[in-house]
Amino acid sequence: MPRTDLKVPFSQKDEAKSLGARWDPTLKVWYVPDGVDIAPLVQWLPVAKEDDLEHEPEFLVRSPYYYVIESATSCWKCFNSTRVFSFVLPEEHEQFELVEGEDEGFTLSANRGEWNCRGYRGTASSVSSLSPQVAKQLSRFTENFKSAYSKAGGRYMMNHCEHCGSKQGDFFMHSEPGGAFFPTSPEQASRMILTKINERFESNCGVGFASDDFLDCMRVQEQG
Ligand SMILES: [Zn+2]
Repeated sequence: MPRTDLKVPFSQKDEAKSLGARWDPTLKVWYVPDGVDIAPLVQWLPVAKEDDLEHEPEFLVRSPYYYVIESATSCWKCFNSTRVFSFVLPEEHEQFELVEGEDEGFTLSANRGEWNCRGYRGTASSVSSLSPQVAKQLSRFTENFKSAYSKAGGRYMMNHCEHCGSKQGDFFMHSEPGGAFFPTSPEQASRMILTKINERFESNCGVGFASDDFLDCMRVQEQG
């Protein structure tokens, strides 16, 4: 949990101090110390100014590097085992989130927001688009990860069976314990391979943290 900093004008510093705020002499900023009630101090929480926000970018998820993850699933149609792929993002990955303004005019004025890092490792699912650079990297692993319509409606990039071409939807693999990207034991995770790609990741996708417990059990290899 990051520390909450405050924006206290010099003329109000004594009042803020009496309500529990503390001064950080190194960073020269007032903050809310652990155990202090934030409620009386909310008036000094920094408000995002429109000027500080960015327009919505083309890709809403980004990371300075990433891993291609290879796992296997049993095809629901032909029952053969097929390799399936996704992306694992490190703690440094960021998601772009629109900021809701307090006054309506601000919210409607533009799709503005900011990059937020939640600090967890995650696996990409419901991938609706990839940057050309990421798509090119993935094409070195598989040609079976491609856009398709899901039964639930909507179009996203899905794995397809290497043997019969059937779609292997994300839901079972990402959201069901024991699924290809939802290991429930070190043994299952040890059959998964992570290949580190030292390039920027950019995509529109969800980032789930179901695999986090066992990521360290997976085999990691550098890009060959
Ligand atoms: Zn199949």
